[in-house]
Amino acid sequence: MAEWHKSDWRSKPRIQMPEYTDEAELKAVEAKLATYPPLVFAGEARRLKAQLGAASRGEAFLLQGGDCAESFEQFSADGIRDTFKVMLQMAMVLTYGAKVPVVKVGRMAGQFAKPRSAPTETVDGLELPSYRGDIINELAFTPEARIPDPNKMLQAYTQAAATLNLLRAFSTGGYADVHQVHAWTLGFTESEKAEKYRDLANRISDTLDFMKAAGVTSDKMHSLQTVDFYTSHESLLLEYEEALTRLDSTSGKWLAGSGHMIWIGDRTRQPDGAHVEFARGVQNPIGLKCGPTTTADDLKVLMEKLNPENEAGRLTLIARFGAGSVGEHLPRLIKAVKEEGANVLWTCDAMHGNTIKSATGYKTRPFDSVLREVREFFGVHKAEGTIPGGVHFEMTGQDVTECTGGVRAVTEEDLSARYHTACDPRLNASQSLELAFLVAEELSA
Ligand code: PEP
Ligand code: MN
Repeated sequence: MAEWHKSDWRSKPRIQMPEYTDEAELKAVEAKLATYPPLVFAGEARRLKAQLGAASRGEAFLLQGGDCAESFEQFSADGIRDTFKVMLQMAMVLTYGAKVPVVKVGRMAGQFAKPRSAPTETVDGLELPSYRGDIINELAFTPEARIPDPNKMLQAYTQAAATLNLLRAFSTGGYADVHQVHAWTLGFTESEKAEKYRDLANRISDTLDFMKAAGVTSDKMHSLQTVDFYTSHESLLLEYEEALTRLDSTSGKWLAGSGHMIWIGDRTRQPDGAHVEFARGVQNPIGLKCGPTTTADDLKVLMEKLNPENEAGRLTLIARFGAGSVGEHLPRLIKAVKEEGANVLWTCDAMHGNTIKSATGYKTRPFDSVLREVREFFGVHKAEGTIPGGVHFEMTGQDVTECTGGVRAVTEEDLSARYHTACDPRLNASQSLELAFLVAEELSA
């Protein structure tokens, strides 16, 4: 690995990245970013890696979630707080079901760049470049808005830094106290149709009461008051990633300073491409999306490239096949992993294989498809004797109407009411928590 350098990706084929028109402007932004402090530190990334290693052995469980695309316009303290809060609630429910610690990783503080299925978009006969995330261009459908602007990287950095600052404060400032988190969970189960979740919530209450009676109060147990909360995003815009990559003086290894965990998307996982070249050289935990077109041979090459030392927690395989397709694809990839004797953490992205267009014209995801994919994922791992180590959701703490279904049923007609996502449809707070209850049932089955 000694010969790897953070700019080596530049000599490899790149896709899904913008063509900036003003080279000098781009260089100036990269130079500026390279002088800014990294957002995360090597010790944190190493700790996360150890925790993901535990998840790969079934000794922990990963909950990864957040926006499809973070937005400049919707950036607010309340938005961050609410997503953080729902993730803690989900984690509490999952901890109870899995009986192991839940590792919490937000799609936050850096999830700005988006791969797109088509390079352009046509509306009423006007064809414009696709929107690629707020770090690159703008959502508005005008020629000016769609021009990639490197200066947006500086704004993304600033927003990521402020987001992380708030998350760090919430994680240690009493907000994450286990009793407070449970009080929120109870609020959800009071809803009329959530009767079936009340039983589990009551059992959690009993456990907390027992701990209190036994003298284990949160003021005596630091770990009940604070949480480890990590950040992650797709490592897509490599100029941004490179500029924040630093040599860690303790280990002598490179660290992507843009987030604790980075992942490679389903569209940019070519073994000889730029994105794999970048990710292989940094010491962070790496995620790799695995979709229906991932071949066993490619997966073997990628595992060798991304985790040559077969380190536990280094590589998370994020399965995203779609409900109804897990049985066709997951077993063949599990077989490839077994043949290589590779250490990986398997997790289930139950969103990206389940996107449909509603009759009312919105991109949506039915709650039941999301749940079904998670259940199929658990089922295949049970049959294969392997470990389903986590779940990955696009979700928000806001009361949006982007995915259909759930106990407080969102209908196709409701979608237009609060459809705010800059990209893919997210589970709202109630749908997210409901899913956690249902996944907890699977985990304790
Ligand atoms: C995403 O996670 O937002 C995404 C684009 O996923 P995928 O690469 O799996 O399609
Ligand atoms: Mn998405």
